[in-house]
Amino acid sequence: MTGRLVIVGLGPGAPELTTPLASDALAAATDLVGYAPYLARVPERSGQMRHISENREELARARQALDLAASGKSVAVVSSGDPGVFAMASAVFEVIEEGNPAWRDVEVTVVPGVSAMLAAAARVGAPLGHDFCVISLSDNLKPWELVLQRLEAAAAADFVIVLYNPASMARPWQLGEALARIAHHRAGATPVIFAHAVSQSDEHIDITTLAETESKHADMRTLVIVGSSTTKLIERGGRVFVYTPRHAELVEP
Ligand code: SAH
Repeated sequence: MTGRLVIVGLGPGAPELTTPLASDALAAATDLVGYAPYLARVPERSGQMRHISENREELARARQALDLAASGKSVAVVSSGDPGVFAMASAVFEVIEEGNPAWRDVEVTVVPGVSAMLAAAARVGAPLGHDFCVISLSDNLKPWELVLQRLEAAAAADFVIVLYNPASMARPWQLGEALARIAHHRAGATPVIFAHAVSQSDEHIDITTLAETESKHADMRTLVIVGSSTTKLIERGGRVFVYTPRHAELVEP
C-alpha cells in the first residue's frame, strides 16, 4: 500500500498561528519528519514516530519522507512559516523530479502556513500593503552576485523588500552589503524593520531607518523589511505603526 506525504507549514512560532488544517494534518500522520526545533513545536502523540534531521539536509530529509510514504506510512514533513517559502515543499518536488519509481504513487499535499513576513508585517502595521518582493540572502544555493543583482533591480523598481535569512554565523557581513546596495536607490530615512523571533517568547522588533541599520543586530531568526519610497510611520497612542499606502506614482529611473 502506498502512503501519503503532507508538507506542513507550522507558522512562525506561536501555536495560535498554526492553522487548524496544519494541526489536523500533523495529528493524522503516522510519521513526522523535520528539523529538531520545528518538531519540538508539534504536540507529542503516542504511536507517532519522529524522524529528526539536520538543518541543512533538506534533500536527504525529502527523500527520507518520500521513502517512508512509499512504504505505506502517512508522513508529515514540517517547515516553519509556510512550507513553500524557502522551505521543504520545493525540496520535496526537487527530489520527486529525480523520478524514483517507488515514489510515483505517493499522494503529495502542501498545507500552507503563516510565513514570517506576514507575521512580522502584522506586528508593525502594514508595510506590505503595496507591491513588494522577497529575497533570501542565503548564498548556499545561489551565487552572492545574483543576490546583489536582484537587490539592485528590486531597489531600483521601488519595491518594499523583504529579506529572509539575513545573517548567520557563517554569513556575518552579507546583510551590511545588501543594505548598502539598497541605499544607492533609497533615502536614509526609509523605514526598516528588524523582526526577531516573531510570535516567540523572545520576540524583539526594532523599527529603524536605512541610515541607522549598521548598529542593528540580525541572526538566523531575524527577518528584515526595507520600506519603499512611500512607506511611512505613524505614531498613535505612543505606538509607532509602519505602513505602505495602496497607491503609488511612476518613479523616474
Ligand atoms: N518557510 C519559512 C522561512 C524559512 S527561511 C517562512 O515561511 O517563514 C528561514 C528564515 O525565515 C530565517 O532566517 C528568518 O529570516 C525567517 N524567519 C522564520 N521564522 C521567523 C520568525 N519567527 N521571526 C523572524 N524571522 C523568521
